[in-house]
Amino acid sequence: MYFVRLHYADVKENVIDENENILPKTSTARLEELQDKADDVQLVSSNNYDIGLIKELFCTAEQIEKFVHHGPIAHPTKFRKDALPKSFTHTLFHIAMPNVEKIPRDWLTWSETKNALYCFPCRLFSKMPETHRSALSLPTGYSKPKDNKWKKLYEKISHHQSSSGHKICYVEWRRLEENLRDNTTINFLLNDNIKTEVERWRQILRRVLDVILFLGERGLAFRGDSHLIGDPKNGNFLGIMELIGHYDSILHDHLEKVKASQQSHKRMQAHYLSNDIQNEFIQCCTDKVTDVILDEREKCKHFSMIVDATPDTAHIQQNVLF
Ligand SMILES: [Zn+2]
Repeated sequence: MYFVRLHYADVKENVIDENENILPKTSTARLEELQDKADDVQLVSSNNYDIGLIKELFCTAEQIEKFVHHGPIAHPTKFRKDALPKSFTHTLFHIAMPNVEKIPRDWLTWSETKNALYCFPCRLFSKMPETHRSALSLPTGYSKPKDNKWKKLYEKISHHQSSSGHKICYVEWRRLEENLRDNTTINFLLNDNIKTEVERWRQILRRVLDVILFLGERGLAFRGDSHLIGDPKNGNFLGIMELIGHYDSILHDHLEKVKASQQSHKRMQAHYLSNDIQNEFIQCCTDKVTDVILDEREKCKHFSMIVDATPDTAHIQQNVLF
């Protein structure tokens, strides 16, 4: 898609103005002339997949994936003229076989931004230094029609096409394209793994929260004398988790991993069963319950409170507010 600064309406207007005073230059001829000027003024690309937009010599993995996923953009209908001036010929985009068959050079792509020709796979995949590269795989592409003649391209393209570097890049391009189509890229697999891992932890935390709410509602003690999985003295929290684990594969697998780490004395990065985590969960539940109570109090005109107090085993007074 182009945004041509000189629009057709402007062109038409100019023709009418000039034709009124000057000679009967035919409208069609004048239109062509002005259209050529318009093409030379500037063609501004709005295509994000124009390969000329890549400034770096070596493309990043993200850039390669993005451009390969989209593929080369369609060729424009009109090209800039060279110094002769000769128009760029579309025949370069095909190889003419002796049996008159035409094989497309599907790897050639035109950049509207740079007004230059590129080799799509070499521009993306080439690992060669700048000095060893063909102009077709440089960030600037093959352009400069004032110094170069499009005619020279026939020779250059044939030479580039038969180079081993080009063949390697072409194969890499097609292989990645196929992988992307099958959704089997490393990124896709990684994303899939991350999603599965997130969901697994979500399920484990949901079970932890349920057990904490169950014990909290009944005012039962959480901890025992041991923190080891499989120990009958490990208290109500771990005991109930083990019981659920008998019927729940997610929790069973998790508890087995924790048990193995405890037996081998290798610290797990996180298992969400420790005393600290239990306290954190209780605190979260407390905050939530407090918020609900305060919210209810705000909505009521009248409310009452029950206060009770008792000394604990250390003879420190503990107050309870109902
Ligand atoms: Zn190439």
